Amino acid sequence: MRLVLLGAPGSGKGTQAVRLQQALGVPHISTGDLLRAAVAAGTTLGIQAKAVMERGELVSDDIVLGMLGERLSASDVDQGFVLDGYPRNTAQAHSLDTLLARLGQPVDQAVLLDVDTELLIERIAGRAKAEGRSDDTPETVRNRLRVFNEQTAPVIDFYASSKRLVRVDGVGEVEQITARVLAAVENATAA
Ligand code: AMP
Repeated sequence: MRLVLLGAPGSGKGTQAVRLQQALGVPHISTGDLLRAAVAAGTTLGIQAKAVMERGELVSDDIVLGMLGERLSASDVDQGFVLDGYPRNTAQAHSLDTLLARLGQPVDQAVLLDVDTELLIERIAGRAKAEGRSDDTPETVRNRLRVFNEQTAPVIDFYASSKRLVRVDGVGEVEQITARVLAAVENATAA
C-alpha cells in the first residue's frame, strides 16, 4: 500500500503515520524527519535547510526531492510506504508522480486529515510545550499555516481531480482516526 498523508500542521499526520506504519507493515517516510536528521548531522544540506525550517518556509524542491528519491529507492519500500510531509506544493506532487512512475510504484491513495483551523492552532501550541520543536514558535506556526494554505492546499485538489483523494475527519481519539483512515483507504482501493 502506497499512501500519501495530507493535512495542515497540527492535523495529526505524524501521529497517524506512525500508527499506519504498524497497521499496514510499510515504512513511514517523513520529509520533515529526513530534513531534521540532516540538520542534526550538520551536513551542508542540513545547514542550508535549518534557517528555512526555522522560518516555517519550504526547503527547496530540488533538495527535498533528492533526499526523498534516495529514501524511496531503499529495499524496505518494496511493499509500499506512508509518506508524510510530501508533496507540499503542486510541483512536488508532479515530481512524486514522475519519480514513482519510474520506480513502477504509483501512489494508491492520498488521505487528507481534515481538522478545523482553530483546533490546529490549539494543538500546535500544546505540542510546542510538550516537544520543544524549534519551529513551533508562534510566528513560525503562523507562517507554516500560511504556507499550507497557499502552497499545500492546491495539492488536495491535485489528488481529488485525479480521483486519488480520501477525506477523513481528523478530530477524535487517535485510535478512532486510525480506524477511519484504514476503512476509508480500504473502501477506496476496493472501489
Ligand atoms: P514537518 O515535520 O513535515 O512539519 O516539516 C518541518 C519543516 O521541514 C517544514 O516546515 C519545512 O520547512 C520542511 N519540509 C518538510 N517537508 C518538506 C517538503 N516536502 N518540502 C519543503 N520543505 C519541507
